[in-house]
Amino acid sequence: MPITASAVTHWADNPWSRGSWSLIGRHGSPADRATLGTPIRDRIRLAGEATHPTRAGMTHGAHEQGIEAAAWAAGHGHRDVTVIGAGMAGLGAAQHLRARGITTRVLEARHRTGGRTTGTDVGGFTFDLGANWLQQYDDNVLARLAEKLALPVVPTAFGSGLDDLERQLRARLAAAPEHASVADVLAAWPAPPAALRRLVDSEIVMDTGADLGWLSARHGFEPGVGDGDRWIIGSYQRLVDHLADGLDIRLGTPVRTITDTADGVSVDGLRTDAVIVTVPIGALPDITFTPALPAAHRTALGHLGMGRVEKIILRATDRFWPHTGYFRIHGPTDGAISEWLDATDADGTPTLVGLLAGPWLDTLWTGTDHDITTRVLTDVLHAAA
Ligand SMILES: Cc1cc2nc3c(=O)[nH]c(=O)nc-3n(C[C@H](O)[C@H](O)[C@H](O)COP(=O)(O)OP(=O)(O)OC[C@H]3O[C@@H](n4cnc5c(N)ncnc54)[C@H](O)[C@@H]3O)c2cc1C
Repeated sequence: MPITASAVTHWADNPWSRGSWSLIGRHGSPADRATLGTPIRDRIRLAGEATHPTRAGMTHGAHEQGIEAAAWAAGHGHRDVTVIGAGMAGLGAAQHLRARGITTRVLEARHRTGGRTTGTDVGGFTFDLGANWLQQYDDNVLARLAEKLALPVVPTAFGSGLDDLERQLRARLAAAPEHASVADVLAAWPAPPAALRRLVDSEIVMDTGADLGWLSARHGFEPGVGDGDRWIIGSYQRLVDHLADGLDIRLGTPVRTITDTADGVSVDGLRTDAVIVTVPIGALPDITFTPALPAAHRTALGHLGMGRVEKIILRATDRFWPHTGYFRIHGPTDGAISEWLDATDADGTPTLVGLLAGPWLDTLWTGTDHDITTRVLTDVLHAAA
């Protein structure tokens, strides 16, 4: 086997994420994201990617929400603010507060910064385990930061634009009844063409990692992917390290309780004026709020969920895969889908970055990382070659 190094992710099993990114279920709408980000008694604010009404599930949306929450805290005159989570939202918030002379500390459960934006060494070079692309590149605050830092970025050509079938699919999703799921729309399609299921897998399952019976038809397919996306040679970690610089970040500090009383908030007993909570919605139930989160926030949370997309990075002695650039491989069953980025540009060593979603994960993602790698090579890549 020509593999020289590999890495496999487990975002769905990880207690600090429990999934890949947030999604809108059939009973929800973007208004739930806005509700979730509404300040609570002027002292607590939720601010991760899930709270962005139009740029959810993306690093720059998370970062914008962190900055927005910090501006809110500063605007209320809070002088000591605790930020929970050192991902793109938390780092954005803490930098903004620090720049305004407000005392701030970041409490982070993991023993590293970055959250779902993190690089790791795979065979001598750093690759992204989480976020891969700077999406919506022309209107992306982190893309501007990458440019300022002169980070090398590579554009990805995701393929041809919208064809007729995709236009029809989008129109039917947009016109679906308010609480319909994507699966409802597919079931109601008169004489669905053979290509429909593959299109749904490529465009919706791959971009969400969702159960289509749960995902909102109208709102589940949110904008973002394929809008001039570029990936960073050397990984997002270079942005994370820059943003973390100079901050008071307490790693290995999982927060369990947030208690709001008449004279201030306490986070696991630590008194502070205000709290900005950026943990993924999958990890939020592990924090006990006293009093409980307001009913509107709880309802909004009930309408949102986390999708499941996992990643594999393969370094090899030669390019044994079927295509260069960007390509997709469909699985043997409906919903089994993967996308692949030839990332050899990183350092010249043949490198493939894969994202997998749908029922394939149930069969491929079991056992050790070595087992998973072997199965992906045999059942996905060699089967497609
Ligand atoms: C496989 C994958 C691919 C992706 N691809 C892209 C992409 O190409 N482009 C893109 O823009 N986005 C992508 N995303 C999404 C993007 O990574 C996220 O939207 C973004 O990083 C979220 O930032 P955040 O700060 O809201 O949350 P996070 O990055 O998750 O940060 C939250 C932090 O809170 C910490 N935490 C959790 N619970 C606690 C607790 N109890 N106490 C203290 N700390 C806690 C976590 O450890 C974490 O560090 C991808 C995500 C995944 C998983």
